[in-house]
Amino acid sequence: MKQTKSFEFGGASIKPGKRAIVELPMARLYTNSSMTLPVQIVNGVNGGPVLFVSAAVHGDEINGIEIIRRLLNSRSLTQLRGTLLAIPVVNSFGFIQRSRYLPDRRDLNRSFPGTAKGSSAGRLAHIFMSQIVSRCDYGIDLHTGSNFRSNFPQVRASLDDPRTMELARVFGTSIVVPSELREGSLREVVTELGKPVLVYEGGEALAFNESAIRTGLRGVINVMRHIGMLPPQLGNKALNPIITDRTSWIRASMSGTFSLKVKLGDLVNKGDLLGILSDPFGNDQESVLAPFTGMNIGQLNLPLAHEGDALIHLAKTLDKQQNEKEVNGSMSQLTLDDFGL
Ligand SMILES: [Zn+2]
Repeated sequence: MKQTKSFEFGGASIKPGKRAIVELPMARLYTNSSMTLPVQIVNGVNGGPVLFVSAAVHGDEINGIEIIRRLLNSRSLTQLRGTLLAIPVVNSFGFIQRSRYLPDRRDLNRSFPGTAKGSSAGRLAHIFMSQIVSRCDYGIDLHTGSNFRSNFPQVRASLDDPRTMELARVFGTSIVVPSELREGSLREVVTELGKPVLVYEGGEALAFNESAIRTGLRGVINVMRHIGMLPPQLGNKALNPIITDRTSWIRASMSGTFSLKVKLGDLVNKGDLLGILSDPFGNDQESVLAPFTGMNIGQLNLPLAHEGDALIHLAKTLDKQQNEKEVNGSMSQLTLDDFGL
């Protein structure tokens, strides 16, 4: 049904069928320059849900910025129902500094919901909550691995909320991972408001990973189709991702150089070789073995490890043969779902 009302946001009025970049005021910089949080509003001709898509909450996680840039340029948005709020760079400070954090050394994703009188991270979180999340029915927050680690494309969601799980399935990654309880994360506080929110993780910090970008873009569009913001795709089959109930970081049993023997997304059986830790003289080495059957969903790319460092993020799965069948099945369905974007 056609919308008649404009979308009022941050003092701007965006008519149906129009888009605008609205700059939400933030605290002035100490250079005296003003500072804002830029949000692009795309308002559909027809009414429908309101969705936010955010990236760079961690300032060095830039795949999501590219996902949002491509989404905003996608022709499919001409058929938009409802309203899209796109926030490609939430943590501008970290983005400029090429850092995960804010200048007060806080992690924005541990500072939600924040308060108007809190730390600078808490104030930014408060602006995001009060002006963006409060207006939305759904949210998708885009992330990558951190600290020289890269993530296999995955959705993290609250497994006990059926509405969120439905969106996690349609997003289209081959694995869905339960969200760890992260106090102060955007996902946690939006979930507490009863609004479905997905976190997408793919690739590594300070890099563009083409396959992670494509999977993320396709996922956002799949979710928008499912909630009625975009027309459904004909012949779209339900995807059947592996849903794991447990993940664990495999840590270095000794300090040394680390030679990886698996790739992201590989399925391994309990006892399979994941990598080898060696001292620089070649006297001592230890094999890193899979402690349970699972999928490699995150790995350390920098081949240097202190004892105790996280090397491989393993998601528990069923036996390898069954997994391979499931993964191949969902991959071929993904190809059918290609949007030609
Ligand atoms: Zn992140």
